[in-house]
Amino acid sequence: MNKTDRIVIAGAGGFIAGNLIKRLVGDGFTNIRAVDIKPIEQWYQTTDGVENVADCDLKEKDNCYRVMEGAVEAYNFAADMGGMGFIESHKAECMLSVLINTHMLMAARDVGKIERYFYSSSACAYNTTLQKDTSVTALKESDAYPAMAEDGYGWEKLFSERMCKHFREDYGIETRVARFHNVYGPFGTWDGGREKAPAAISRKVIDALDAGSDQIEIWGDGEQTRSFMYIDDCLEGVLKLTHSDHVEPINLGSSELVSINTLVDYVEDIASVKLHRNYKLDAPKGVRGRNSDNTLIKEVFGWEPSLPLREGMAKTYEWIKAQYEARKAGRKVVE
Ligand code: NAD
Repeated sequence: MNKTDRIVIAGAGGFIAGNLIKRLVGDGFTNIRAVDIKPIEQWYQTTDGVENVADCDLKEKDNCYRVMEGAVEAYNFAADMGGMGFIESHKAECMLSVLINTHMLMAARDVGKIERYFYSSSACAYNTTLQKDTSVTALKESDAYPAMAEDGYGWEKLFSERMCKHFREDYGIETRVARFHNVYGPFGTWDGGREKAPAAISRKVIDALDAGSDQIEIWGDGEQTRSFMYIDDCLEGVLKLTHSDHVEPINLGSSELVSINTLVDYVEDIASVKLHRNYKLDAPKGVRGRNSDNTLIKEVFGWEPSLPLREGMAKTYEWIKAQYEARKAGRKVVE
């Protein structure tokens, strides 16, 4: 792969892809085509020197064939997704993302000169019956089977993983698949219903401070556990995996397990405030406990995501606070 070879990035107006593009441009890549269904003014960020293709629905086969022309590498981050509140109530919409990966793979086979194809799967592909209590040990790659993924979103991920596998086996497309565990950081969704816990809690704390309130609403009893990976670790893992010989799905997540209550403690500490927690027990809360088993990634790369959550949350909180203040003042996002 040369620095002038074409890289196609799907979902470029979103959180992870937008940050990856900035990283790749910084690394000297000069031929990046960034694609998203959203109009350009809704992209979380754009980077100079990139060909941006906005308003482009990659569920449509013709669009995939058009944007994949000449691609040497492709990264598919495009999906209709969000936090638990979104995916529990938009199962059909989540499953329709299958059209994006299907048509992108077909285009990779038929029109590109693809050397590597990356697909972003999720910890939601894991068997949910293994995640019913907080005593759960971390999930290892084989725990996706026997399959009982998160309904809707998770099943789409699992199916698309397998399609990547078979395009590799049958057509020689060099697919690579990471199962992300909750990614967070600047330039992500922080409001509007699709945001995940780290951004949602940051915003709620900022909201409370702004309103002079001492109350915060927490979804569930706060004892559900998760791990959260900072965006820079995510990008590092994606690039390592894409250029490696490891062909099976692999966990890409932090193994620092915390409860939602601990996450709230961190944000309160960062904001120097202590709020009264109102637990909303009937809110969407997802599985009870989930962590990333990093045995395999450490074995393959001698590396794992490692930025401590407290540190990553401090950067994320500051970014969200700046967005919040900018919006209140009627300005657009702050960089
Ligand atoms: P995001 O919602 O910020 O970005 C996804 C982007 O895809 C959006 O900009 C959206 O407009 C675009 N998109 C949706 N449908 C499209 C279509 N039909 N055509 C073109 N573009 C379309 O999400 P993200 O957090 O950046 O996630 C990227 C990928 O990683 C997704 O596949 C997601 O499922 C996966 N993932 C993310 C996390 C996480 O914690 N963020 C965890 C597990 C898996």
